[in-house]
Amino acid sequence: MPIHILPDDVAAKIAAGEVIERPASVVKELIENAIDAGATTIHVEIKQAGRRLIRVSDNGCGIPAGEVETAFARHATSKLQTVQDLECIRTLGFRGEALASIAAVSQVTMTTCTGDGQVGARLRIEGTRVVRREPRAHPRGSTIGVENLFYNVPARLKFLKTDVTERKHINTLIARYAMAYPHLQFSLENDDRLTFRSPGSGELLDVLIEVYGLDIAGAMLAVESGERGASQEERQMQVWGYVSPPDVHRGTREQITLFVNGRWVQDRGLTFAVEQAYHTLLPVGRHPLAVLQLSMPPQEVDVNVHPAKSEVHFQHRNAVFRAVQRAVRSVLLGQAPIPSVGGATSGRGVAGAAATQAAMDLHAPAGGGSALRWSGEFETGDVEPTKLPPLRAIGQLGQIYIIAEGPEGMYLIDQHAAHERVMYEKLLAQHAASDIQVQTLLAPLPVELAPGQAAELGNWLEPLRALGFEVEPFGGSTVLVRAVPAVLSRIDVRQTLVDVLDELAVGDEPLADQVHRRIAAAACKQGAVKAGQTLSMDEIKGLIAQLEQTTSPRTCPHGRPTMILLSRGWMEHEFGRR
Ligand code: ADP
Ligand code: MG
Repeated sequence: MPIHILPDDVAAKIAAGEVIERPASVVKELIENAIDAGATTIHVEIKQAGRRLIRVSDNGCGIPAGEVETAFARHATSKLQTVQDLECIRTLGFRGEALASIAAVSQVTMTTCTGDGQVGARLRIEGTRVVRREPRAHPRGSTIGVENLFYNVPARLKFLKTDVTERKHINTLIARYAMAYPHLQFSLENDDRLTFRSPGSGELLDVLIEVYGLDIAGAMLAVESGERGASQEERQMQVWGYVSPPDVHRGTREQITLFVNGRWVQDRGLTFAVEQAYHTLLPVGRHPLAVLQLSMPPQEVDVNVHPAKSEVHFQHRNAVFRAVQRAVRSVLLGQAPIPSVGGATSGRGVAGAAATQAAMDLHAPAGGGSALRWSGEFETGDVEPTKLPPLRAIGQLGQIYIIAEGPEGMYLIDQHAAHERVMYEKLLAQHAASDIQVQTLLAPLPVELAPGQAAELGNWLEPLRALGFEVEPFGGSTVLVRAVPAVLSRIDVRQTLVDVLDELAVGDEPLADQVHRRIAAAACKQGAVKAGQTLSMDEIKGLIAQLEQTTSPRTCPHGRPTMILLSRGWMEHEFGRR
């Protein structure tokens, strides 16, 4: 083939590929445009996870009727004029690529009005061609509808994941922007259902409540960078936001969200800096939640590294890391509960401090000497899981907890978490020994899943089988279940499959060696005794005996504690005996 210049539409589609990877990338670009336009409310509507429609409406400055068409041209921007401007970007957009890219791979309708008594304009573009242009009334602001994304790029369409996954990307993205811009009101309508709304109150905590729920948001610790000990570069930087206390953690790093000058960034180094601040405070393999804003002079950070603008380069990289680490660490230390619960000054209140202290007592090896100290110095080395001492069952509390006595005091054991741990280790031990005990169902059980879920499940039949779930496709969205692991013989099969799918959809595609563990964890969560179930004394004793046999009795497979120790020392103190 002779060398030739690619036709415009081909070049446009190729270029679009760098910016628009999936529905969430469209949402990102349109939200950024709305923010740059000074909007205070941004409403996002999606249909079929954004494949059929993504519509973003804002009340920003709008585009003058005469410029709407230009906005869709490649390299058309109102945010940058000279190369020098690149050094000091204060807007989220500047490359002038998004609208052109989106239009190249979808059917776009933009309606916009600048207010000021103007009528407004409407433009319809299909695959870079303007097909309609007309005056149209619209309140001040813009509404952009993007239909049938990738209709003309079948290769891209093929690589989209399930609706569940694509929707998850969009949900996460909107939550992120809502956290980065708490004074803006974001809302998301998912197939005609309002699924998210941030209040726009200007308080990050209000957004955290919407994103994480009241319990977690209420436990988060506020970060505000101080200047003590900071270098010249660090002083120019501000770090603020919220991080989780050490007893709230997750299995992935996905909940560490970082913004640099209002731009969400993915930066391993920064994420690591946050994690380092928790060194030894979290169980192995667990990660904190964090929502941190960094602000610095724009010339200190190069945002023009990647078309999607989520990677950045820092001029003083180490200073940035130090500032983040220092800010997070100082809040963790500042919140350190004081050993005597009665005198606690922790901002989390006496109850919170007591619970944390009690949870930490768990790490204290029998015979004294805490393996995990809260002090100004962080210790090296991770917390080793230790075996349980022999426990004497006493009874059940509120159909949720088991009460037991051990040499160090009283244990409150979460019956669900404990049972999860027991089943999880049994199942994985059988799997490791290639000796899975299965329970064949009396009759094969047809299970109806949501559209798309059956296909998604098709990807995991092998690992499911290796754990004792014999599942096969049964046409449409139905699967046939022939057997389940004997350990989990009493589970709700349908709910388990749905939970397993949800678990596997979290984060990046799981690595092969994680798949079994994640399936097992999700299935055991479903199969374990629930809170609210009455247990007989024999069942309680049996559960404790089995828990004593596990290698990590102190946490459930999801990393939550299975038990809290109310130590003798604490009780004596509380009763004024010492
Ligand atoms: P960039 O954001 O990098 O400038 P885009 O292709 O995203 O490039 O947008 C091109 C231009 O269209 C912007 O510079 C802006 O002037 C205008 N524009 C896009 N979306 C909006 C909006 N929602 N409100 C007002 N103006 C907009
Ligand atoms: Mg833009």
